[in-house]
Amino acid sequence: MSADVRRETRALYGDAGDAVADDLLALATAFRAAHPGEAVPAEARMNERDALLITYPDMLQRPGEAPLRTLRTWLEGPLADTVSAVHVLPFYPWSSDDGFAVEDYRAVDPRYGTWDDVEGLAARHRLMVDAVVNHASAQGDWFAAYLRGDAPHRGWFRSEAPDADVRSVVRPRTTPLLTKFAAADGDRWVWTTFGPDQVDLDYRDPSLLKEMTAVLLTYVERGARILRMDAVTYLWKELGTPSAHHPHTHALIRLFRAVLEVAAPYVVLLTETNVPHAENVAYFGSGDDEAQMVYNFALPPLLLHTLTSGDVGPLRSWAADLRTPSDATWFLNFLASHDGIGVRAVESLLPTDAVDRLVERTLALGGQVGRKREADGRATPYELDVNYLDALRTPGVQEPIEREVDRFAAAHAVMMALPGVPAIYLHSLLGSRGDPELARSTGIPRAINRAKLDADALHRELDDPTSRRARILHALRTLLHARRAHPAFHPSAPHAVLDAPPGVLHLRRGRTDPVTCIHELAGTGARVDLPAGRDLRTGARVAAGPRDLAPYEVAWIDETAS
Ligand code: BGC
Repeated sequence: MSADVRRETRALYGDAGDAVADDLLALATAFRAAHPGEAVPAEARMNERDALLITYPDMLQRPGEAPLRTLRTWLEGPLADTVSAVHVLPFYPWSSDDGFAVEDYRAVDPRYGTWDDVEGLAARHRLMVDAVVNHASAQGDWFAAYLRGDAPHRGWFRSEAPDADVRSVVRPRTTPLLTKFAAADGDRWVWTTFGPDQVDLDYRDPSLLKEMTAVLLTYVERGARILRMDAVTYLWKELGTPSAHHPHTHALIRLFRAVLEVAAPYVVLLTETNVPHAENVAYFGSGDDEAQMVYNFALPPLLLHTLTSGDVGPLRSWAADLRTPSDATWFLNFLASHDGIGVRAVESLLPTDAVDRLVERTLALGGQVGRKREADGRATPYELDVNYLDALRTPGVQEPIEREVDRFAAAHAVMMALPGVPAIYLHSLLGSRGDPELARSTGIPRAINRAKLDADALHRELDDPTSRRARILHALRTLLHARRAHPAFHPSAPHAVLDAPPGVLHLRRGRTDPVTCIHELAGTGARVDLPAGRDLRTGARVAAGPRDLAPYEVAWIDETAS
């Protein structure tokens, strides 16, 4: 491991790299000595019992209670028995982007609670926290020190000449790449990939790398077991290049991984790269040297396309090829998150007109479309800001709630049946609809899916088994229970996509203990051939032979049981 650290620091810093490696290894070995922790073999870090909840720190609210405590009460109460892990979105003091403009990397915003509350969450759940490594707040102390020219911060951000040619740089937003700030020694045009309040960090300065490594270890010390490496696509920048997936960006991820293998080998690194699928999976590296987990960004738009068009073809061929490079690397499968439904991942998987249909549907349903700037100046779709349950509806058509619940459950069944670890956004688990009014009043399109919930009112809604929320929570919980009870759903267990009638996705999971997962996704019903076995959700015996599936029906059959 120390050789790996040294190799990457040399790649990044040349001759100065050895001294950087010495410092990082000293940090890592001291951490390990102070926190011996569990030594978990790489392949054992995830299994079929793992599922993750995605939530903001204050999405569940009770008057007079710190939201992080409310979250814990819910995770250990009404939501117990659903997930094993929780991704708490940034809880550090922040200035914009709902947390992703971090002002102080080492503090918990008192609005949410304290470090004790964060540690409390980790008591019964595997905790995932954000490592916002690409950029910091323009209003934080680090950037203030940079503008003053103080050491060591004067090298932590990056400025260019005001007329620098930045056309080659890949943009995830429509805002200008360079933003002007007044520094002590005059104006600076600072690199701001995500917007004027999010100033990009510059890892050419090794003192920043050391500080960020120390920050990550603080998170681990406080209970984090999964580190979500936010927006790492853009980590290393070089004018005249796309500055996306720069070779040094991959070296940096390998370096963080190698340091963690020394300091805390039970930690899992997850990269967040909202880019075309093939670029996404490159962050698995060779299977043992980069991220252990990668967001499966193609899945949400592919399933949305499938369920709204009845066309299972693109999903089927993509799923057939879904592979990670080793049994110690896994996809994080999800349908909805705090962000919109990213469409970059399907650039080469869906025809342009299919993406156009998704854009039209989003707008017709009261959502908005987040855009990015192309090199030729055009603003093209980046994400669909719409709630996933709503996105599956047909604009202008009123459907029975049963049909909506079945369709939503079928979408989640596919997500849970694919290889990888499932992640569910709180608003999905609780069957929320979108809140277009919130998006309008805040001026933040993504706010459509970021409403805060009154925990007591929520209790009352869930107490009524006929409510939308209770129906959806019940349907998703049943799937989660079935999934975690069977080793064929291990995130690394093999899968195959089998022939099926139009509108049906037929997967087979497992090695010696196969499970058949059949999903009707066109909403029309279909006749299928079922194997003999036991239905994993109901426990009922299934006889071999032809059966009519109802619209959106799911059959998960344990073929070894009878
Ligand atoms: C986060 C977004 C955020 C962006 C910049 C993304 O990956 O999920 O919410 O706007 O990174 O930090």
